[in-house]
Amino acid sequence: MIKNAQFVISNTDYKKCPEPTKPEFAFIGRSNVGKSSLINMLTNNKNLAKTSGKPGKTQLINHFVINGNWYMVDLPGYGFAKVSKGIKSTWEKMISNYLTNRDNLVALCVLVDSRLEPQKIDLEFITWCGENDIPFILIFTKSDKQAKSKTQQNIQKFLNECVKIFGEDPQFFVTSAQSSEGKEDVLTFFDEEVKE
Ligand code: GDP
Repeated sequence: MIKNAQFVISNTDYKKCPEPTKPEFAFIGRSNVGKSSLINMLTNNKNLAKTSGKPGKTQLINHFVINGNWYMVDLPGYGFAKVSKGIKSTWEKMISNYLTNRDNLVALCVLVDSRLEPQKIDLEFITWCGENDIPFILIFTKSDKQAKSKTQQNIQKFLNECVKIFGEDPQFFVTSAQSSEGKEDVLTFFDEEVKE
């Protein structure tokens, strides 16, 4: 259960992030995947993460403290079309530095749009996570947007790609910010990991 969620700080430099004294879960995904909506749904707060019509607008590492005892981190989305090469590589450096150096990171939640067939950019990103020993789980978003059977088909295809890359399925959740599907399961996952 999330009883309290508070913004702490925004950074471009992982070294300036809060002391790594609490377990941390970070959220990442393609721009427009529904990351802000999911964070707001999980934390019961309409405005905690800023939903934005402009993909790629939030270019910062945003820390929130949850129930006073763990961090939730909103990372900038990837794969937005209208950025220069320069911005892209700044993003890559910031994110890869954060992900490879953050000692208290328990799991990176990689958000995947359940409406879509497996996207190359998502598969490339999780491949990079695997190569760099970043512990990640998948959170499929927007499950309310299409028939259950379609969601299941897309997820199965994505998992098949994961098996090709990793030899096994990663842990995954199916969610909707609209219907709150998956909310309890995701929060239970965080709670159990924090307890350990
Ligand atoms: P972000 O760029 O990843 O933070 O994505 P947003 O949270 O801003 O969402 C992008 C768009 O998808 C917005 O128009 C949201 O209202 C919509 N959206 C996000 N999650 C859901 C969901 O679970 N169901 C539906 N129907 N729409 C969603």
